[in-house]
Amino acid sequence: MPKATETLLEIDLNALDNNYKYLTSKLKPETKVLAVVKAFGYGSDSVVIAKELAALGADYFAVAYANEGETLRNASIETPILVLHPLPVNFEIIVDRCLEPSIYSRKMLEEFIAFAEGKKQKEYPIHLKFNTGLNRLGFVEKDLDFIVETLSKSQSVKVKSVFSHLAASEDLKLKEFTTGQIDDFRKISEEIIAKLGYKPLLHCANTSGIINYPQAHFDMVRTGIGLYGYGNDPAENKHLKPVGTLKTVISQIHTVQKDESVGYNRGFVAGKTTRSATLPIGHADGIPRSYGKGKGWVTIHEKKAHILGNVCMDMIMVDVTGIECQEGDEAIVFGPSSTAEELSAAINSISYELITAVSQRVKRVVCRN
Ligand SMILES: *Cc1c(COP(=O)(O)O)cnc(C)c1O
Repeated sequence: MPKATETLLEIDLNALDNNYKYLTSKLKPETKVLAVVKAFGYGSDSVVIAKELAALGADYFAVAYANEGETLRNASIETPILVLHPLPVNFEIIVDRCLEPSIYSRKMLEEFIAFAEGKKQKEYPIHLKFNTGLNRLGFVEKDLDFIVETLSKSQSVKVKSVFSHLAASEDLKLKEFTTGQIDDFRKISEEIIAKLGYKPLLHCANTSGIINYPQAHFDMVRTGIGLYGYGNDPAENKHLKPVGTLKTVISQIHTVQKDESVGYNRGFVAGKTTRSATLPIGHADGIPRSYGKGKGWVTIHEKKAHILGNVCMDMIMVDVTGIECQEGDEAIVFGPSSTAEELSAAINSISYELITAVSQRVKRVVCRN
C-alpha cells in the first residue's frame, strides 16, 4: 500500500485468507465454519469480509442484530445468516430477508412461531440457544419439554441448530468450568435430539474454543476474532495476521517549550522542550479518551509516539521528541507490527473493543498485502 495521506483503515484480504486457512486447519474436514461478521465485521467492513469468506467456503455467517444481516443481503450475499440477538421488533426483517433467528427464551419461541405462522412459513429455520454458564441469553435444561411441546404444535419452524456459548474459552485457568459447559451442552443436545426425533447442527466453540477445546467443535464452529487476526494467545497470534491496519498522517508539528501545555484543559504540561505532532484522528474515530495522557501511542517510523494530554474528538497530539519525522509522514495506530492487542492492553482493554470501535467516519481501503 502507498503511504497514508489521511486516516484510513486498511483491510488486508490476504491476512483474512491466511487466518481462515489457519483456523480451519484445526478442524476435521467435515466440521462446518460459521464466520462471525457482526459489528461491521469486527470494525472493518462486513460486506467485504463476508464476500471473501463466502469465496473461501464459509458455510454460515452470524451477525448480532437483524439490520446487520439485512446489510449482507442487500449486498447479494446468499449464505445462511444466523442472527444471534434478534428482538421481536425485527421479526419482519428476519423473515423478509431469510435471516435465521437464535431463539433464546420461551417468549421468543412462542412469538416467533406465531409470527412465522402469520407469514404462512413452513419449516422456517431457527436456532435454539442454551445457556450453559454465561448467563447472558439462552434456554436452560428445564425448558426442554416446553420447547419440544411448543414445536410439536406447529409446522412453521424447524430447528436447524442447537448451540451454546463458552464463557471463558480463552482462559485455561478456567478449564474445569469450560469443560463443564461443554459437557452440559453435550447432554442437553442429546436430550433434545432424542425428543425432536431429528438431529440439528450442534455448535458451541468460538475462536478460543476452536484453539483450546477440540472436543467442543461438534458439527460447526463460530469464529470471529481469529478471522480478524487475534487469537487471545501469544502462541496462536504468531499464526494469525491482523486484517485491519489503522493509519493516519501527521498534520502539523509544534515545538512546545518548557511549561507550555498541549491540548484541552492543559492535559499535558511540558517539563522540557517537546516536539508534538497533531494527527487527524480522535475519540470520534475510535480512540477512546482513556488512551490520553501517555497511555496510548502510535508508531511513526517504527518508533512509539505517546499521546500527549487529552484525546480530542477529531485529533490527538503525540510526542515525537527524538523521532525524525515531518508533516505528511504516516503514523500507525494498530496493525500487524503494532497490534491492537498490545495497544488495548495499555488501558486494560482487549483487541475486540479497540478494533470494533473504529468509527464509520474512517475511510476503509481494501488491499491484499
Ligand atoms: C461474537 C460471538 C462469537 C465470536 O466469538 P470470537 O471470540 O470473536 O470468536 C461466537 N458466538 C457468539 C454467540 C458470539 O456472540
